Amino acid sequence: MKAVVYEGPRNVSVKNMPDAKIEKPTDVLVKITTTNICGSDLHMYEGRTDMETGRILGHENLGVVVETGSAVERVKKGDCVCMPFNIACGFCKNCEKGLTGFCLTTNPGTAGAAYGFSGMGPYSGGQAEYLRVPFGDFNCLQLPPDAEEKENDYVLLSDIFPTGYHATVLAGVEPGDSVAIYGAGPVGLMAALSAQLKGASKVMVIDSHPDRLRLAEKLGAIPVDDSDGSSVEQILKLTGGEGADRGCECVGYQCSCHGREVPNLTMNNLVKAVRPTGGIGMVGVFVARDPGSPDDLAKNGVLALDFGQLWMKGQHIATGQANVKAYNRKLRDLIAAGKVRPSQIISHELPLDRAPEGYRHFDARTEGWTKVVLKAAA
Ligand SMILES: [Zn+2]
Ligand SMILES: [Zn+2]
Repeated sequence: MKAVVYEGPRNVSVKNMPDAKIEKPTDVLVKITTTNICGSDLHMYEGRTDMETGRILGHENLGVVVETGSAVERVKKGDCVCMPFNIACGFCKNCEKGLTGFCLTTNPGTAGAAYGFSGMGPYSGGQAEYLRVPFGDFNCLQLPPDAEEKENDYVLLSDIFPTGYHATVLAGVEPGDSVAIYGAGPVGLMAALSAQLKGASKVMVIDSHPDRLRLAEKLGAIPVDDSDGSSVEQILKLTGGEGADRGCECVGYQCSCHGREVPNLTMNNLVKAVRPTGGIGMVGVFVARDPGSPDDLAKNGVLALDFGQLWMKGQHIATGQANVKAYNRKLRDLIAAGKVRPSQIISHELPLDRAPEGYRHFDARTEGWTKVVLKAAA
């Protein structure tokens, strides 16, 4: 099968790889139709992780079931399904509570597994013609009859829509709240959409890329241009000096300021911009070790946080990757009902063969390249 393979820093190729196949009776084999390039793929693409060369990338996957293992009961051949990026067992202590991003059995020794991802287990990614889905009954979300027509909406259920939603849950967004979202990348934009679904009175999105800020505005948020570093003052002004009720961190450890990486910048801005006793949800990726970082603390995963101010303000912080399965069903139903259209942030639809071009432009933040989806079916 054709697949997108990591060859080394800033080098991916599309080549023939052994076909994905059923390996265990609980597996499902999916013929991929749409698979996305994610901002978190870029950490691997840039060589900032210990991703092994020769592995297939891609954790945002949608397709049609072509084969099921002998122990699979619910999922049937021909079903159109979308898979959470988390691979979860459904029966461990965390999965039982809905915390499927921290499954204790699919990536032994740590918590949480994913397709085609450094540090998240041995699983191959779905930027390929076929994908093996472990625990298929648990991990396949079946899609309604309009799956083909709304494929670009449903494929965002694999990660960024639930992840943006999770940011608002971690921050504690309630109806009427004002929300400051740092980062107008795909996840930040999905957080803006989710905050509005949850009834926020004012959603402010902070970034320094004009094209992304325009998209945030199109989604109904107030764009806050931080290219001069004035975002905190602007948020205080927009909230009558009080600060936002809730804040979302949708940037992660490679946060940059005028081309220089400053890993603690967004978090400390959020501590300043969120009101006393407000909540901060962090879904941007931070890592335990980042040897490639120019920042000495960050090399060991340490962040210089304004902890005194955080404590004095009585703020809470909640962190971590999204438990996609906790949200994907209800978000699917909102898409099916026509209440929300997350695909409006997709900027490029490319055939799988053109994945290297998609990676190059998305990584370079080329103007207008917001979200790339790859069409795997020939
Ligand atoms: Zn992703
Ligand atoms: Zn589990």
